[in-house]
Amino acid sequence: MGLADDLIVKDTAPKLCAFARMRAEFDAKDQAALDNAVKEIMATAPQIRSAVGGITIRWLHEALRKNGVRIGRQSINDHLKGVCSCESR
Ligand SMILES: [Zn+2]
Repeated sequence: MGLADDLIVKDTAPKLCAFARMRAEFDAKDQAALDNAVKEIMATAPQIRSAVGGITIRWLHEALRKNGVRIGRQSINDHLKGVCSCESR
């Protein structure tokens, strides 16, 4: 503690959750694909998601993991439900 600690310039960038940080690392093509997948998941009622080709959070999570992206399914779920730590929404 002391003056030097008090004078640290705080990072003023908006806080992003794990999902948003992951998205920010993607290139434009992958971001567009991710956004589209999220839009499809959100546009489909949970009880019929499985019936329309499995466009579910589980499906999204597995696709991400298959491509080497490390993220928890809960992080995806929280972001899509708007209960994540994002300050940019
Ligand atoms: Zn978020």
